[in-house]
Amino acid sequence: MFKKLISKLLSHQKVAVFSHVRPDGDCLGSQVGLCLWLEKNGVSCSAFNEDDVNENLQWLTDFFPIEKPDEALLQNYDAFVFLDGNALHRFGPLAEKVAEFKKPLYMIDHHPQPDDVFEEFVSVTNASSTCELVYELISEHGVEQIDQEIAKSLYVGLVTDTGSFQFDSVKPATLRAGATLLEKGEFTPPEVVERVYSSKSMNQIKLLGLSLETISLHANQQIATMFVTEAMFNETKTTNADTEGFVSYPLSIEGVKACIFLREDGEKIKLSLRSRSDIDVNIWARKLNGGGHKKAAGGMFEGKIEDAIKEVVSIGMEQL
Ligand code: 5GP
Ligand code: MN
Repeated sequence: MFKKLISKLLSHQKVAVFSHVRPDGDCLGSQVGLCLWLEKNGVSCSAFNEDDVNENLQWLTDFFPIEKPDEALLQNYDAFVFLDGNALHRFGPLAEKVAEFKKPLYMIDHHPQPDDVFEEFVSVTNASSTCELVYELISEHGVEQIDQEIAKSLYVGLVTDTGSFQFDSVKPATLRAGATLLEKGEFTPPEVVERVYSSKSMNQIKLLGLSLETISLHANQQIATMFVTEAMFNETKTTNADTEGFVSYPLSIEGVKACIFLREDGEKIKLSLRSRSDIDVNIWARKLNGGGHKKAAGGMFEGKIEDAIKEVVSIGMEQL
């Protein structure tokens, strides 16, 4: 599946690898893993992200640095790789600018409906994670090239994008990938997973407490909403990076088919949609100029939280 992409990638001298804005474990894990592998194979590369890396994932940047791009710097690369997103706007304004350079653009991703700007890409909608795809790419070239750092990096995305191996995107191949990564990486699951999840501050837990109080049920208890406001961040001395994982609480309520987590982000509201039913939250989010997968999607809303809840719930109800 990766033959053409591998030979194209390894034909370049200097490659820039992007992960998507508001980076998560899957895009950063796959980015660090792919960069380490490219350098192993003689391709000089740099990893770029337009946003900051959350504290719980900072340790990945010890394996490979993640830099902020600037336009002059980007001119120096022969090709560009985009990971865990399938349209340039997902990678920020500078990534969109790169399309004007007329250099090859490549993509590896698992979101539906990819854009057609890429010279070569691997898009597998039912893959658990981009990390699983990068694992397959490296294995196709030579599984012996997976070292400890590559293994730990890729394991992060396998865990985070599957809700710790709970989602139906988990296939036998996903667990086989996880098994090989554990073997090659010579680590135990908690060595990686605890860094990602178990480093919560007391303030984060206080924020969670305030946010849980906002849960409400709509549409005959089938849709749950939960939110955080700027005032809650101020009260608990937290920031919008501290809401990781909150969205799973409203979804876990008995009988709830889908949920919306809303987060005040300055003038805007960041929406996270999740489903554990036939409700397709990618379709739902696209109606709000966002997107994602069937079971997990996101977007932005301009206006007040109360209005966002009304509008977003009413769009979701069309699918009930
Ligand atoms: P999260 O709610 O964790 O931010 O995002 C869930 C999923 O939706 C991820 O796969 C993410 O890539 C996608 N996603 C989140 N926000 C947006 C957005 O604004 N636009 C698009 N197209 N996808 C998004
Ligand atoms: Mn992903």
